[in-house]
Amino acid sequence: MNAAFGWQSVPDFASSEIASTVAKNAIPALKWLRTQGIRLIKAMPQEAYWWVLAPPRVLSGDVPWRGRGGDVMLRQLEAKLLGRAGILSRASHVLALEKRLDKRFMVTASVSEQTRTYLAKNVVIADGGFQGNIEMLSRYISPSPKALFQRCAPTGVGDGIRMAQMLGAKLIGMDTFYGHVLSQSVFNHAGLWPYPIMDRVVSVGMAVQRNGLRFMNEGLGGIYQANQIAKLDDPLSTFAVFDSAIWRTAGKHSRLSCPNPSLIKKGGTVFEASTLESLAQAAGIQIEALIHSVESYNQHVKMNALSELKPPRSVNKFIPSMILEPPFFAVPLCAGITYTMGGIATDGCARVLDQKDQVIEGLFAVGATTGGLEGGSTAGYVGGLAKAVTMGLEAAEVMAQCVRKEPPSLPISIG
Ligand SMILES: Cc1cc2nc3c(=O)[nH]c(=O)nc-3n(C[C@H](O)[C@H](O)[C@H](O)COP(=O)(O)OP(=O)(O)OC[C@H]3O[C@@H](n4cnc5c(N)ncnc54)[C@H](O)[C@@H]3O)c2cc1C
Repeated sequence: MNAAFGWQSVPDFASSEIASTVAKNAIPALKWLRTQGIRLIKAMPQEAYWWVLAPPRVLSGDVPWRGRGGDVMLRQLEAKLLGRAGILSRASHVLALEKRLDKRFMVTASVSEQTRTYLAKNVVIADGGFQGNIEMLSRYISPSPKALFQRCAPTGVGDGIRMAQMLGAKLIGMDTFYGHVLSQSVFNHAGLWPYPIMDRVVSVGMAVQRNGLRFMNEGLGGIYQANQIAKLDDPLSTFAVFDSAIWRTAGKHSRLSCPNPSLIKKGGTVFEASTLESLAQAAGIQIEALIHSVESYNQHVKMNALSELKPPRSVNKFIPSMILEPPFFAVPLCAGITYTMGGIATDGCARVLDQKDQVIEGLFAVGATTGGLEGGSTAGYVGGLAKAVTMGLEAAEVMAQCVRKEPPSLPISIG
């Protein structure tokens, strides 16, 4: 995993307070991890890969994450915590969170099939997003949540969001998620996630629905594309359409994530034909509409008039290519969801806010359970680990400052 900071900008959404904290804590968080013995390496020349948890993940084997990156980090942090007389309760599932009259929190958890309660002055909610909760996905993300591929751990089911809401917390930006565009074959071929992803091919080529029409601004990149696919009534009705030149270039752009040739090698469906007409026929796309969509797109690329296309196409991140060189290709797509970007509203100190933007004393939230940084109309992404570690550090600092001023009370973390 990479701890990517500032991967994409979030111009129309991010809380400036949270963004400032993330920026302020980015380097201290990396330094702190290093003081705990965590190894970070520069895995690739691009800036997003300068701080990769070591050893980097591999994409083969039954459990490819074991003994790598995040797994090693969590084991080491756990050992450090226990070595300093910290308490970590495994196999615990937090069920409820209440605030008592004495202002302390009561946390009720099932621990190895027994119910236990804990009292704490401070609680940090850090249970991940709600990507694994079909009911919440249908309320906030997609009319057809089962058509989204769960490109994630199944553990994020929105428990923290639910508990924070019971205590009056405000929720923010619930309609966006971080994810990628995957081949639809991922639903029956285990080897097709988390990679390859179709983002880059769609970003320089085209996406259409079965009716042969474009439906989104492909130029805004893969996270935006995945969100747009998820919002369709039928998220499984979409195809990437491209030519040989795109398949040779964008299809191979990254060793780690590209679909050419791994998608075909791993049994994914790729329709290939010498004409657009036979391609549409093979893939089950409306023939005349597809031919018209491709012709219109090619013309707008040629005239450098992509803002006039309907829907318009941005060109500042990816340079679109004409679809001209046979054979032509169509790949049935789906949206892969990794984590939800919205959630509990906090201030820049990770303190949970209520409906009137007032701090709920003692209640903190960090990571994928929170909103206010990522998302917005272009599905801007900062980085899941970066968001979690920088705001986690902030919550710890704020609590430590209070503890220095007052007699200590042991904080606990849900998650
Ligand atoms: C395949 C994949 C690739 C990724 N690659 C990257 C990457 O390269 N870079 C990057 O920055 N991010 C990446 N991410 C995202 C990143 O892993 C998450 O953003 C990050 O782990 C979120 O951290 P978190 O602490 O908020 O939640 P999590 O890491 O999800 O931790 C939450 C914990 O809370 C526990 N929990 C949930 N409910 C309860 C409950 N009721 N009681 C007790 N415990 C509970 C869960 O079991 C879990 O252990 C990737 C994710 C996936 C799935």
